[in-house]
Amino acid sequence: MTAQLIDGNAVARTIRAEVAERTAALKARGVTPGLAVILVGEDPASQVYVGKKVEACQQAGMHSVLERYEATMTEADLLERVRALNADPAIHGILVQLPLPKHIDADKVIETIAAEKDVDGFHVASAGALMTGLPGFWSCTPYGCIKLLESTGVPIKGKHAVVIGRSNNVGKPMALMLLAKNATVTVCHSATADLAHHVRQADIVVAAVGRRNTVTADMVKPGAIVIDVGMNRNDEGKLCGDVDFATVKEVAGWITPVPGGVGPMTVTMLLVNTVESAERVAAA
Ligand code: NAP
Repeated sequence: MTAQLIDGNAVARTIRAEVAERTAALKARGVTPGLAVILVGEDPASQVYVGKKVEACQQAGMHSVLERYEATMTEADLLERVRALNADPAIHGILVQLPLPKHIDADKVIETIAAEKDVDGFHVASAGALMTGLPGFWSCTPYGCIKLLESTGVPIKGKHAVVIGRSNNVGKPMALMLLAKNATVTVCHSATADLAHHVRQADIVVAAVGRRNTVTADMVKPGAIVIDVGMNRNDEGKLCGDVDFATVKEVAGWITPVPGGVGPMTVTMLLVNTVESAERVAAA
């Protein structure tokens, strides 16, 4: 069996077109969705990520602000900037790019972002809202995975999903989102005794580990949907995921490639959350 490819670029394009329509509708009512991105320091990967986020906002017709600061910026100055953006009515979403320089407490910065502008979904209030089913913002990478799953047309409800990884930004919210969609969820991690045993039971596998070849063909139930969040480098230095794509695609029913799977969805869901935030303000 050869799996059907879940094309993250195509799903992202469709969702971004919807975001552009929602943005145009808001603008017609006098509200332009606005995202502020703060980058502290010179981390090369972070510079690429923030550039993509700002560019995506502009393409969707949104207002975006990129604030760049030296790595020597004090925590107090950063907190002051976040508070100013909290109070700025032109800004509906605030994102502070991680990692921050070591002298700055990232948790403190994130908790200073107003929960109603936490479009990255990292605030404790956003995590609590996801946990309790209250309205909040779902964090972008797992939310993107849900959209990829939905794009297959296969119902999530009633399926057994195995999430590999339990980080606060991917694994744990992913498990809660799948639960919210009425899947039965197993969460595996580095202390899981027999990973293959659990993965073999799964109708849906989400791998968020950061180690290539964590999921191999012998571990996958025929026809399963496999979502690969991992971003690693292979021996040739090429980007690859946590899943052994070449062999797993012969067993799975659906599979995301790396690159071109989960990656394009993270920025897309940031746009979705920002337009959603502006719609909430417009409706208030
Ligand atoms: P993380 O914080 O390092 O978490 C990794 C998780 O994998 C941990 O829960 C860890 O278990 C578990 N793990 C490690 N070795 C394992 C093993 N042998 N068997 C089972 N579980 C194991 O990483 P993360 O931030 O969640 O990111 C995971 C991957 O996704 C990385 O490659 C990252 O680059 C990628 N990522 C991609 C995107 C995107 O947009 N495409 C976004 C975010 C992250 P313990 O909890 O027991 O340590």
